Amino acid sequence: MRILIVAEHFGGKLNPATAKCVSCASKIGADIDIAVLAADSAAVAEQAAQLAGVKKVLKVDHPANAEPLAAVQAPQIAALAANYTHVFGPSTTFGKDLMPRVAALLGVGQLSDVMSVEAPYRFRRPIYAGNAIITVDAPQSAKLVATVRVASFQGVDASGSAAVEAAAVASEIPAHTRFISRSAAATGRPDLQTAARVVSGGRAVGSAENFKIIYSLADKLKAGVGASRAAVDAGYAPNELQVGQTGKIIAPELYIAIGISGAIQHLTGIKDARTIVAINKDAEAPIFEIADIGLVGDLFTILPELEKALG
Ligand SMILES: Cc1cc2nc3c(=O)[nH]c(=O)nc-3n(C[C@H](O)[C@H](O)[C@H](O)COP(=O)(O)OP(=O)(O)OC[C@H]3O[C@@H](n4cnc5c(N)ncnc54)[C@H](O)[C@@H]3O)c2cc1C
Repeated sequence: MRILIVAEHFGGKLNPATAKCVSCASKIGADIDIAVLAADSAAVAEQAAQLAGVKKVLKVDHPANAEPLAAVQAPQIAALAANYTHVFGPSTTFGKDLMPRVAALLGVGQLSDVMSVEAPYRFRRPIYAGNAIITVDAPQSAKLVATVRVASFQGVDASGSAAVEAAAVASEIPAHTRFISRSAAATGRPDLQTAARVVSGGRAVGSAENFKIIYSLADKLKAGVGASRAAVDAGYAPNELQVGQTGKIIAPELYIAIGISGAIQHLTGIKDARTIVAINKDAEAPIFEIADIGLVGDLFTILPELEKALG
């Protein structure tokens, strides 16, 4: 058995999600290779080669790979997949965009959100917004394309020394999808999906202007910022900050939910958080059922006090 993992990276840095995919793959007991697609993959390939348990890193350098466009990368991954039994990517925005295309090109279904490995073709994954877990038997006769639920795995350490080699990919690069521009605010804050601490605001924050108090507390705690869907839909926070079933699934050490009721779809995104603190004026709010620490009160009173205490 051989497993190919698609590396997620940005700005010359390997995303920690890749080490988590390796961790998942290592439970299968197969050879693990990583593919790094980039315009110049040297720096990322070097980081990938250090991941414990990886046998080989395949560098796929092409000017078209300068930006991670799923439409451009998928045919290349599908071509590389010829030598593998399993192809894994992270269940992040990157992986959720790319892997279904890879599966479609290979003519197989995708197994999404692997949370544990029972056997090489038997996995567990969440369904019904994380309210139930099913065991899935994938057909052994087909290539297995899967996304790995990164919140379920600790990344492997960087004690490895895999071989790095350039891979020739025999696939046409589509010209129908081009990179035009990237518009993402450079916040300087930790990335929501990998931050050790996250401060999230909900509908109760009330406006984009008020959301500054969430950013301010996050900065004091060197935390990433998240938001409920209600806060995103109301325009208080940008879309990429949404936490939950249709947002990001995160597993920080500390999650602070401010003015968030704790709807099931939101809780799906924070199930694996180590410590959850909730601030809500309604003592009956469902968020308190899963919170480790609950503060009942008005966020506009509690937050300034918290900030003062933090100095
Ligand atoms: C298919 C589907 C997918 C969804 N995906 C997601 C998702 O990914 N993420 C997500 O978050 N939601 C998702 N939702 C929406 C979800 O059901 C809830 O509507 C949403 O999470 C509610 O957001 P909220 O907690 O901010 O708002 P509300 O439910 O309105 O809660 C606001 C909370 O703030 C409290 N409050 C009010 N004023 C104050 C104050 N001054 N101080 C302190 N507390 C105060 C209230 O007591 C209340 O508990 C999804 C829904 C569907 C149907």
